Amino acid sequence: MVCKKNLSEWYHKVLDEADITDSRYPVKGMLIYKKWGLFVIREMQRYLEKMLEESDHEPTLFPVLIPEDTLGKETEHIAGFEEEVFWITHAGANKLERRLALRPTSETPIYEMFRLWIRSHNDLPLKIHQSCAVYRYETKHTRPLIRGREFLWNEGHSAHVDAKDAKENVEDIKRIYERLIKDLLCLPFVINRRPEWDRFPGADETYAFDTLMPDGKTLQIATVHNLGQNFSKVFDITYEDIEGKHLHVFQTSYGPSFGRLLAAAISIHGDDKGLVLPPEIAPLQIVIIPIVFKKSGSEEVIAYAKKIKEELDSLGIRVKIDEGEDRPGSKFYRWEMKGVPLRMDVGPRDLKEGKITVVRRDTGEKSQIGFDEIEGIKTIFKDISDNLREKAESRFRSRIFKIENIDDIKGKVGKGIIIAGLCSGGVCSERIEEHADILCVNETVAKCIVCGGEGREIKIAKTY
Ligand SMILES: [Zn+2]
Repeated sequence: MVCKKNLSEWYHKVLDEADITDSRYPVKGMLIYKKWGLFVIREMQRYLEKMLEESDHEPTLFPVLIPEDTLGKETEHIAGFEEEVFWITHAGANKLERRLALRPTSETPIYEMFRLWIRSHNDLPLKIHQSCAVYRYETKHTRPLIRGREFLWNEGHSAHVDAKDAKENVEDIKRIYERLIKDLLCLPFVINRRPEWDRFPGADETYAFDTLMPDGKTLQIATVHNLGQNFSKVFDITYEDIEGKHLHVFQTSYGPSFGRLLAAAISIHGDDKGLVLPPEIAPLQIVIIPIVFKKSGSEEVIAYAKKIKEELDSLGIRVKIDEGEDRPGSKFYRWEMKGVPLRMDVGPRDLKEGKITVVRRDTGEKSQIGFDEIEGIKTIFKDISDNLREKAESRFRSRIFKIENIDDIKGKVGKGIIIAGLCSGGVCSERIEEHADILCVNETVAKCIVCGGEGREIKIAKTY
């Protein structure tokens, strides 16, 4: 493997060697998801969809094409996406009368239908979600899973009777995404309320989940938008209240990017040996390596390995025996690179003693357990996840800096998230943005790091 210090090279090598994606497809920015990568994405999707449906979201699947007049209805929204839309202009030899867009996001087509679906207050709240691909013509440098022209996500959309109910949904979704990111993927993050100029086009508020990559740049992995009544007024989505009055609904929309979440999990947990995955999302959770030196006695060892596998199968664990011809050393190397959380080495001595040698991928720690202790293996899985989560969290915390003066920015920029102060002056914010992006402007009062005047606390970082 390549040393992880060289993050970009390391990342591409892991994607390739661990069968995560293939980026050689002949359309720029479009990827092939291979079995290892797709497995993790499907696990995330299942976990998220279950939580959303438990919180009363209905699953849906909308067509990928959006008519031009629908996409263009909300002017701020279309202005925000105009440069990024893929258009279908022809069908066969005929030029289409109205162009069709490949969805860059689905607010507009979904809200066309919300207008028809919502009649009375009894229809509210209405919450739906869909897992799908979206298309954006990225002009910036594309990067597999991080910035592409086709990406996989889940998007949620809701309509509510009032602003309070919409706000509560925003908070619910924040908790659901936190469970996905922290509990399942073991990743650290902060929620940043984006400044006005960086909000989702058409939203009153945008909350972004930002994580920190090993190169010190932040990566936005999910967003939640409070849309207010901006879309409901344009799409005329109304309901009849108890008194018979017709009122516009309040809306929210939200989505995590599965590709970016996967990219973050790979980059944050991985090490010089390759991929490291939390057991819950690992395509293969345990690999059993029979250690046999000579032909005689090998049958017994293989039979023992099979007995262990059967036991693990019955516990619902994803396990495989590597009976290949190569030497144990190269098998260790391969499965380490692919991030299998636990390895079980079984040799003649283990067989004789009724034991199993267990090696953890995250720590390299080697221990022995008895055959009758197999049932407890899930405790080790939990330890691995806890360890990955804590390690990532403490690295994350150690890379949040506070600065008082613009002169200190150079030493810290690109190393993590910087907390600073900014006044309302445009000149001061320009000075800061020469170095990094402003992730959020908080309510907390803080001294401006440029002019020293009174201002608000901000977070800044280099971003992907
Ligand atoms: Zn200032």
